[in-house]
Amino acid sequence: MNVADSELVASILNKNDFTIVDNIDDAEIIIFNTCSVRQHAEDRVLGRISNEISRKNSNTQLKIGVIGCMAQRLGNKLQKQNEKIDFVVGTDQYKKLPEIIMYLFENPGFRSDTIINNKEIYEDIFPIHTGKLNAFITIMRGCNNFCSYCIVPYVRGRERSRDVEDIINDVHKTGKQGFKDVTLLGQNVNSYNYQGIDFAELLRRVNKVETIKRIRFVTSHPKDLSDEVIEVMANSEKICEHLHLAMQSGDDEILRSMNRGYKADHFNNIVQKLRRAVPDIAITSDVIAGFPGETQAQFKRTYDLMKKIEFDYAFTFKYSPREGTKAAKFNDHIPEETRLDRLQQLINLQQDITLKKYKDQIGKVKEIYVEKLSKRSNEELAGKSRDFKITVFKGDKSLIGTFVNVRITDAVGWTLKGKEV
Ligand code: SF4
Repeated sequence: MNVADSELVASILNKNDFTIVDNIDDAEIIIFNTCSVRQHAEDRVLGRISNEISRKNSNTQLKIGVIGCMAQRLGNKLQKQNEKIDFVVGTDQYKKLPEIIMYLFENPGFRSDTIINNKEIYEDIFPIHTGKLNAFITIMRGCNNFCSYCIVPYVRGRERSRDVEDIINDVHKTGKQGFKDVTLLGQNVNSYNYQGIDFAELLRRVNKVETIKRIRFVTSHPKDLSDEVIEVMANSEKICEHLHLAMQSGDDEILRSMNRGYKADHFNNIVQKLRRAVPDIAITSDVIAGFPGETQAQFKRTYDLMKKIEFDYAFTFKYSPREGTKAAKFNDHIPEETRLDRLQQLINLQQDITLKKYKDQIGKVKEIYVEKLSKRSNEELAGKSRDFKITVFKGDKSLIGTFVNVRITDAVGWTLKGKEV
């Protein structure tokens, strides 16, 4: 979502005669687009800001700004933490950035705007796609779910969906620009609804756009993933065989305390339905270890469900309290040491599963969208399969941007190796 927002901001600034420089030394303005989802992300960006701010010693005109969820969450407090920050702009006020920046060049000082606007959807702005060959298309903003650990609804406001026609036009235009793989984005895409058009219908329409070849979407909330969406996934040739579906926990009591709106059985049933409807689908997930109150037995249920389901990959996190959320106020926080230990157990489990899943691919022929030269060799190309696995094979760089069938011969870590067929 932040990459997509950076592309949106780049477009807003570009329309107002600002340009992106390749080298940070040439920049007159440095903007940090920030994430608030975990404390770690905030700590890291504060470090980055401190590093870059020393540039002001030699370039007194340099302006440094902070945007995104952390800007929205902390507002003016950010300037108190680092008084050399020139501007702080929240997630719904990006259209004001050109005016704010120009004002600061005339009137040095500090400016901020973090007013939440639950109607802002940036409808009329076509982003500058910065990906190699894959592009993000935002279909909705905000979230209404209030999972008890999550800061997103507080910093991105309520859910609102973009006009279906605008989305289709953007997808078409994106495809014409050469991006054949598009990812539809939203905090909870399954609850997309624009004047009665739901996500299943949106997918059907996007599938008809001729200029693209692959469709992905994130993020899907398990409580809102309908049978109809699964059916559309099964019957739409462009929708890739990959779904990211956040499980978060395998214990009903913890799921209830997280305010996730589903039980472990429901999650498991959806996975089975998906696997029946879309053979060879890769399912990836997010899982939290050490949520407040999580007992050893409850953790074990999460561990066991992960083991039973066998995700292709899972992003595992130790619970990170976010100030302002309901869970941060719970009084049964798990000691850091236990959270880390549980996290490590999940990481070890998932590593073994992922390796097995990747080895299972050996012998299969996969369609690879070739993105670039591989990092290791100029004679090798790298791209992604429809089920979102990075695949490397020998080939000429003229194949970049094309779709190539590759027989998988090996799996090394999280990378598949193969030969063009
Ligand atoms: S669905 Fe839950 S976890 Fe996802 S953005 Fe909304 S509140 Fe956060």
